[in-house]
Amino acid sequence: MFQQNQDIFNILSEALSEGIIIVDKTQKIVGVNTSTNEMFGYDEDELTGKPLQLLIPPKYHAVHKDYVKGYTKNSVKRKMGGDRELYGAKKNGKTFPVEVGLNPFEAYGNRYTMALVVDITERKKAIQELKHWATIFDESLNEIFIFDASTLQFIDINRGALNNIGYTLEEMLRLTPVDIKPEYNLEQFNDALLPLLNLEQEKIKFETIHERKDGSIYPVEVHLQLSSLGDQKVFVAIILDITERKNYTNKLEQTVENRTKQLKLALEKEKELNELKTKFLSLVSHEFKTPLSGILTSTILLEKYKLTEQQEKRDKHIKTISSKVHYLNNILNDFLSIERLDTGKVNYNFRDFNLSKVVNEVVYGANMLLKEGQHIHIPENIDEFNLHQDEKILELTISNLIHNAIKYSPENTTISIAVKKETKNMIFMVIDEGRGIPKKDQKHIFNRYFRAENVLNDQGTGIGLNIVKGHLESLGGTIRFESEEDKGSIFIVELPITYKE
Ligand code: ADP
Repeated sequence: MFQQNQDIFNILSEALSEGIIIVDKTQKIVGVNTSTNEMFGYDEDELTGKPLQLLIPPKYHAVHKDYVKGYTKNSVKRKMGGDRELYGAKKNGKTFPVEVGLNPFEAYGNRYTMALVVDITERKKAIQELKHWATIFDESLNEIFIFDASTLQFIDINRGALNNIGYTLEEMLRLTPVDIKPEYNLEQFNDALLPLLNLEQEKIKFETIHERKDGSIYPVEVHLQLSSLGDQKVFVAIILDITERKNYTNKLEQTVENRTKQLKLALEKEKELNELKTKFLSLVSHEFKTPLSGILTSTILLEKYKLTEQQEKRDKHIKTISSKVHYLNNILNDFLSIERLDTGKVNYNFRDFNLSKVVNEVVYGANMLLKEGQHIHIPENIDEFNLHQDEKILELTISNLIHNAIKYSPENTTISIAVKKETKNMIFMVIDEGRGIPKKDQKHIFNRYFRAENVLNDQGTGIGLNIVKGHLESLGGTIRFESEEDKGSIFIVELPITYKE
């Protein structure tokens, strides 16, 4: 009978993949099955009669002894170890994790324990791996969203995503991606998923925005893939918050735009300068040619008047030469002024002086230029004006305005000067009854080299007013004008009575 039982036990135990170890109450091994031998690396019958300790790593021997004591007192069928991790020792000394079930039984009046041992190395590895993936999922700095492929309902969201989006996991599980993507409605989002569902693409990537629980939004790059959880089809979305990248791109775009603008401006300036240069050269040749040929004619004629009584004629030509040289000299001075103004090399000279002195000197010189019947009217209150300014610049200003008034007014007209004193400023006006400035040209009058359409047959360079304006602004003053074609012009200069250095 016993032999029969033994045989049945043997057949059963050999069929089991778990290891079976039977020990007596002294913890001596009385029998093992093949699985045990394979698991621990022993030959058949090698273990019988050996202490169980042999199969337990030495560092657990003490714990095991205590355990056996407790177990013997209260021996019922149970899993060994509770939550503790148990290890077995192979013949070659290697340890491996095991799960052990204990079954006490009695035979022939003796107590035995049958241990069912399972090698859980693979299971542990799998669990470890799962844990590893779970950690990666949860701790990923990218946001990971998993949602059902048919209902689109969220199934799982990692911590990174929850932190950014602001919802709790429970709240998220009631939502779909459409709820956090303000740029998509259900139909549009379903359309976007189509290539994945139709298996036309393995992965799709697009940029959009996500809306947080608090209503704020952030730009994202979405990477979507179809996957499965058991037999449930799901989408896995990895989301990159691209706020920083967008900021950087925006900044870069802004910089490129700014640089392009600057470059365009520089190019325009360059073009403008080139045009000015051409204009300047043609102007110089024109402006110099006329007086030079006048001078030449006068010298040729001078040679002809050899007789003593022809002194009057000689004087006339000498005067012409002198005035033309004077004119050329003025133009050259103007050009030099421009150069100094542009390079900031003007040295102003501030002194106390009386306005009447300056006006008288200018008017004295201008009288020689007056046309038939023209005269200059000077106000009587002019003596009251004492200034602390650059006298030469004021002289240059007044002479420019008066010369223009003479040049651009016909015979038999009056040119008037008017002055007004304000608290801090002096206002100086030159009024003429000349041809005026056409409306369409008025806004350009102070531009360098600009000359109005109605003066192109007269000599001139278009430099004077530009220089005057430049100087006046350096001295804290302004210049403006009012003009009507064929009626006349008023040029108004405003200048601080005392220049504050
Ligand atoms: P220029 O007289 O050498 O041409 P300005 O710089 O002194 O240069 O003057 C610029 C332009 O302003 C003149 O060409 C002319 O068209 C206009 N202008 C200046 N003053 C007068 C004025 N009193 N009457 C009419 N036009 C004027």
